[in-house]
Amino acid sequence: MAFASTSSGTLKKVYERFTKRGTTESKPFLIATFVIINGREHYYCNDCKTAPFSRKGDAKRHYYGHLGKEYIPHQCNVPGCNRLFIQSGALKDHIKYIHDGETIHCAQCNEEFSNPSTYSRHQKRHYAAA
Ligand SMILES: [Zn+2]
Ligand SMILES: [Zn+2]
Ligand SMILES: [Zn+2]
Repeated sequence: MAFASTSSGTLKKVYERFTKRGTTESKPFLIATFVIINGREHYYCNDCKTAPFSRKGDAKRHYYGHLGKEYIPHQCNVPGCNRLFIQSGALKDHIKYIHDGETIHCAQCNEEFSNPSTYSRHQKRHYAAA
């Protein structure tokens, strides 16, 4: 057998605990199988035949799609919004710019911007016009 002489790649199971949002009830899920081939990590989703992930975090993020919405950990509490976020940082930014209306004022024309990237585009326009 061709495989007999190579000992590379013992398949390992990767479990992650997920908590249902709003509860303390958590359970482990077999999210992927993991193998090292030529020193590189490969995570294969346990539920679909998607291309392997090179990082566990990526495999985990992907697995939220299989678990369903009730497992996505962060939800915006603003009435009527209820958007879901896997990462707490993304939720914080969402609240800051979308709901708190945190704005950036342009020093040159006093126009308001609710998001740093639009503001920087706007700045470039001033410089281009000058
Ligand atoms: Zn999958
Ligand atoms: Zn929101
Ligand atoms: Zn301006």
